[in-house]
Amino acid sequence: MHKYISQLNDAQQAPTLQKDGPMIIIAGAGSGKTRVLTIRIAYLMSLGVDAFNILALTFTNKAAKEMKKRIADIVGNSEAKNLWMGTFHSIFAKILRFEADKIGFPSNFSIYDSQDSVRLISSIIKEMQLDRDVYKPKQVLGRISSYKNSLITVKAYFNNPELQEADAMSKKPRLGEIYQQYVDRCFKAGAMDFDDLLLRTNELLNLFPDVLAKYQDRFRYIMVDEYQDTNHSQYLIVRALSDKFQNICVVGDDAQSIYAFRGANINNILNFQKDYDGVQMYRLEQNYRSTKNIVEAANAIIDKNKVKLDKVVWTANDDGPPIRVHRSLTDGEEGRFVASTIFEQKMQNQLKNGSFAILYRTNAQSRAMEDALRKRDIPYRIYGGLSFYQRKEIKDVLGYLRLVINPKDEEALMRVINYPARGIGDSTLEKLTVAANHYGRSVFEVMEHIDKIDLKLNSGTKAKLHDFVTMIKSFQIINENHDAFYLSEHVAKKTGLIQELKKDATPEGIARIENIEELLNGIRDFIEGQREVDGARGALSEFLEDVALATDLDKDTGDDDRVALMTIHLAKGLEFPYVFIVGMEEDLFPSAMSLNTRSELEEERRLFYVALTRAEHQAYLTYAQSRYRWGKLVDSEPSRFIEEITDKFLDYLTPTETNYRYKPMIDTDIFGDVDKSKFRQNKPVSTTPPKWVTDNDPKPNMDIRRLKPMATKAPGSAASAPDSKLAPGNVVMHERFGKGKVLNLEGVGADKKAEIHFEVGGIKKLLLRFAKLDIL
Ligand code: ATP
Ligand code: MG
Repeated sequence: MHKYISQLNDAQQAPTLQKDGPMIIIAGAGSGKTRVLTIRIAYLMSLGVDAFNILALTFTNKAAKEMKKRIADIVGNSEAKNLWMGTFHSIFAKILRFEADKIGFPSNFSIYDSQDSVRLISSIIKEMQLDRDVYKPKQVLGRISSYKNSLITVKAYFNNPELQEADAMSKKPRLGEIYQQYVDRCFKAGAMDFDDLLLRTNELLNLFPDVLAKYQDRFRYIMVDEYQDTNHSQYLIVRALSDKFQNICVVGDDAQSIYAFRGANINNILNFQKDYDGVQMYRLEQNYRSTKNIVEAANAIIDKNKVKLDKVVWTANDDGPPIRVHRSLTDGEEGRFVASTIFEQKMQNQLKNGSFAILYRTNAQSRAMEDALRKRDIPYRIYGGLSFYQRKEIKDVLGYLRLVINPKDEEALMRVINYPARGIGDSTLEKLTVAANHYGRSVFEVMEHIDKIDLKLNSGTKAKLHDFVTMIKSFQIINENHDAFYLSEHVAKKTGLIQELKKDATPEGIARIENIEELLNGIRDFIEGQREVDGARGALSEFLEDVALATDLDKDTGDDDRVALMTIHLAKGLEFPYVFIVGMEEDLFPSAMSLNTRSELEEERRLFYVALTRAEHQAYLTYAQSRYRWGKLVDSEPSRFIEEITDKFLDYLTPTETNYRYKPMIDTDIFGDVDKSKFRQNKPVSTTPPKWVTDNDPKPNMDIRRLKPMATKAPGSAASAPDSKLAPGNVVMHERFGKGKVLNLEGVGADKKAEIHFEVGGIKKLLLRFAKLDIL
């Protein structure tokens, strides 16, 4: 153990060696926060703390696995195995399985992913005969999700007239009913969505003091990485569990808080000292990851933010090369530049593909990169797009498997009951759903008793339903006697799924069958892995849970050598020798969506800080003068973030004079932090209309991705502000901030701004050409 401690610097050793009590480590990127957590766990174990008493919450399951591996190297595999480590969602899903009956759920509850949830919301909206253009399912789910993450249950919602009023004002007076229906239906289906895993854990810990006491006693030492991005629901769980022993160690960096738009609350880190007695606060200052140029440029960027904790970050590493800035005419050319640079660097420096990462603000940007990499035959891997487990054919097989475990799972049932086609039509399903709602039973239970209920179904239909029930029950018997691989293979064949896919002889059709084969391989690997671990049977239910909570990053085995492509949100905590940050353009990064308030702009800036600090050796910033967005070629201008870096850290690979400047729209006092002397004169004012990027906002494929923002703006919905009519004293509704009163108006035309006092969130100054306001 001594050896590992001595590999830490003094500042890192101090928190590592503090055994008990609450502590917080706030430190900049690359300063060894995650490393300290890892070594600290091993150290606690060396002092005799039982692995069973340690809980570590990480940002991805992959991070947890890596941590566990390092710890196993130090303390031995058999001990490390007993550590509880993982994301909030995976850890509390496990605990809920043990305790589910207390809150009325079966221990084999299903986990609905966001596709399942959207599908269920859509059918509720349809059943309630509401207008889908007003009640957009994804948006409704986002709203419900943010309620859940603020612990606003259906009951709390109906006890809160303000929330109801706000929904009514945004033309969704029946949102509460949808929320209620959604929760009821999930409950009846024995299913939890991602937010429920946290909400129900809170419920469990609140309502059952004995359960709380049990887990408090169990998790005597709690560690949380990336604490700055915990949401309220997660915060309360950690608080409750650590309340008895108060041995809690959280690490984070306020400058890397980038999930506010999904409910993360930076105050959790800022208020930590108030939450516990005698908090020890540690700071780490030395960055071990990056060159001086990168560290200092990143410092300069984050310095522009007003809301931040003052921190020092320095490095003893070499200066390294300057950050290279590249301008191209189009996004296609940008892709070619990136691919050829990777190619050259690989050749010159004998590097692996895995040394390179391409980071972008929105998923849509990956296409141009992919095309260019393919042309150069450079292998790459995209993280976060449509993950393997979200593909239709995979979800179909999983749908059957989910039904085997939990036949009440309504989303799984609806997915597969008539696929492959069995002549069970929509009207039959509607009748079944109505009956299920009427009797307060699941659709499957109604089907089981179809002979006793008069649904006016003809005998042929009844026979089909009966056959389906029998088939699922036969799978259940197989599941009791065989392993998950045997069952899955049987299911793929007996349900007719494979035969169905064989009808399609196109390359896509063949690829789908291969995907199913790949799924079966995955199941076999899982079973073998389980056996290795502790002689477990490799139960199907465990596999399904793993899949439901898997993120793309988790699936990265690291064996194959590929360039990594991902959104910046997903890159948090990772590091790569060479990093390309592409699409460094105004309205893209910073996103046009973020230009309404200072706090949103500051979150974008933190995102840029995260991006840049992923680079160990060399960072590239690239932008294109025009790119296709929403099917149109639009002009773009370089991101203000480039100019925020002092020139001495930059190396412009392309001339800058013709196109390098800020857009005048940021010259407002809400962006008072902008150094106006930097505005270059005599530049034409842009007439490019605002471009919204909401639809392509990154959807990192991990737990937090499901925590949707409360409201999202549709592309092109900008600039509809009734600015001519707006007057001080008007009460207005803003899609994101809710209800507010106009205090003041200033400026003209495109620069016209309103100062508005929002009921929640206080006074904000908004540019009317962006703000979408309804006068009430
Ligand atoms: P982030 O904020 O990006 O999550 P972090 O603070 O968690 O960063 P780590 O990932 O723990 O930082 O460490 C960054 C890199 O520096 C890692 O490669 C780590 O192994 C290395 N490192 C950390 N501390 C030391 C040290 N004392 N000596 C040598 N290398 C170190
Ligand atoms: Mg880290």
